[in-house]
Amino acid sequence: CASLFYVFLILFSGLACSAYAQPTGTRLKGKVALITGAASGNGKAMAALFASEGAKVMIADINGKGAEEVAQLLVGKGLSAASVRVDVTKESDVKKMIDVTLDMYGRIDILVNNAGVFDELVPVGEVSDEFWDKVIATNLTAPMRGIRAVIPVFERQGGGVIVNTASIAGLTGARGGGAAYVASKHGLVGLTKNVAFNYKEKNIRCNAVAPGRVNTNLRANSEKLIGSKTTRDATIDNWKVIEDKVHEGYITNMRKCSPEEIATVALFLASDEASFVNGSIFTVDGAWTSY
Ligand code: NAD
Repeated sequence: CASLFYVFLILFSGLACSAYAQPTGTRLKGKVALITGAASGNGKAMAALFASEGAKVMIADINGKGAEEVAQLLVGKGLSAASVRVDVTKESDVKKMIDVTLDMYGRIDILVNNAGVFDELVPVGEVSDEFWDKVIATNLTAPMRGIRAVIPVFERQGGGVIVNTASIAGLTGARGGGAAYVASKHGLVGLTKNVAFNYKEKNIRCNAVAPGRVNTNLRANSEKLIGSKTTRDATIDNWKVIEDKVHEGYITNMRKCSPEEIATVALFLASDEASFVNGSIFTVDGAWTSY
């Protein structure tokens, strides 16, 4: 099958490792989860947690080597995981990632649209079409295509779950992102609710987790940008206001959270425990957006 070309690692522990399988929980027992952007950060933490709760996990990422390493790590712990290299901005890759997962595991119960890119805090007056298109393609169009491709699978199976990684930048106008990022994440929040409403009778749930500041590569890069000379003065000023408020005690609990603290919310949304949670956006921001 041509789609297998995209599989960099096919290490399915189902039979070979069943004697050693060590999921520590059962909250996703028997489920198949396809997670994009799972070579690092939030997606990697989700892959590890979902697998430890009994899911068979397909790790999809543009960083094929990184995805393979995560799969190997999990398989080494007796968990079920495989990886596929995919550029989610390419529709053909999105379709292949669905096909590869079906070839491998026979079904898909959970799709997590997590892959994302940050922007350069560029205000709309100075954003280039090229830059805008890249951020929207990755953060918004790709999740739409993933959902569009998985819906027929869910319909055949009698249901399924979608979890989107949005951001507090999808709920506020100027917190933690420039024009393209904020617009892409607002779009993803709207898409989440629209999918939830339109497919609720088909036993398909769609929710989003909206992180604040998480200790990942993306956050490290964005904070470098915030401190860089290329960052717009206005943005720096906004950021300083926020940071000053932290120091003054206006905002409590402003530490960065760990990717695991995001993953645990994604796990709840993906599990049957959230059976009536649909169209919801779960902020995980330590009250950053509550002041
Ligand atoms: P990260 O950089 O560690 O992970 C992002 C992953 O997405 C990487 O593995 C990267 O290779 C992958 N990716 C990027 N473009 C891709 C593409 N075209 N195709 C396939 N994979 C691609 O960063 P992260 O913080 O874990 O980001 C994950 C999600 O969390 C993103 O959607 C991001 O917007 C969201 N988020 C992060 C924060 C934060 O503070 N870190 C805050 C809010 C939301």
